[in-house]
Amino acid sequence: MRALSAEDIIIVWERGEHRHPVDRALTMLAAAHPRMTAGELAELSIGERDARLLGLREATFGPTLQSFAECPACRERLTFTLDTRTIRVPKPDRGDGGMELVAGDHTLRFRLPNSHDLAALALCGDPETGHRILVERCLLEATRDGIAIGGDSLPDETVAKLAGAMAELDPQAEVLIGMDCLSCGHRWQLLFDIAAFLWTEIALQAKRLLREVHILARAYGWREADILSLSATRREFYIDMVI
Ligand SMILES: [Zn+2]
Repeated sequence: MRALSAEDIIIVWERGEHRHPVDRALTMLAAAHPRMTAGELAELSIGERDARLLGLREATFGPTLQSFAECPACRERLTFTLDTRTIRVPKPDRGDGGMELVAGDHTLRFRLPNSHDLAALALCGDPETGHRILVERCLLEATRDGIAIGGDSLPDETVAKLAGAMAELDPQAEVLIGMDCLSCGHRWQLLFDIAAFLWTEIALQAKRLLREVHILARAYGWREADILSLSATRREFYIDMVI
């Protein structure tokens, strides 16, 4: 995984700033994987997407990250430090012949949710309908007692089992962190979203870099590209000289 350069960070931020979070995640990945097409990146399962985003974060900013959460019981703001290597989940063996689930009389063949599916879900406001849409989009074939049936005729219980099987086969898609509030003792699990976290970091870093360009261009008349090609240490040194 190659790290994003100062220039990459600004380009990624510029391209993703006014886009949906699903597209922002793909924009970050595209910068890290210039040889993969947009279609190939969008077809990665969400767990594979997030594993690559964790790798990009490690390569660009290192493995240690700091974040915060609000206690749902007492509203205390808690900060925590996380090592990206501790939230990496090994990829389960999915076999070669596609994914299949046998639930009672039903046999289901399915694929894992990808960025196209998340984009389709974004248009649906109701989480329950969204859940069904996701499952139906990822269902390739369903049979009951050997007879083909439509996904819309599956009972809720079977749909829930299918969603569970998908989550089990793509565990990196849902990273839960055990939280413990020091103020009130409340314990809960926090869903950690690497795509949103890394986007926030990239946006902050892009704005910081542009401010540095502004200061140095004004002081020395240097071009943006030349300023961005300096190491962070040199930029910092020159900025200290002019402010
Ligand atoms: Zn609390």
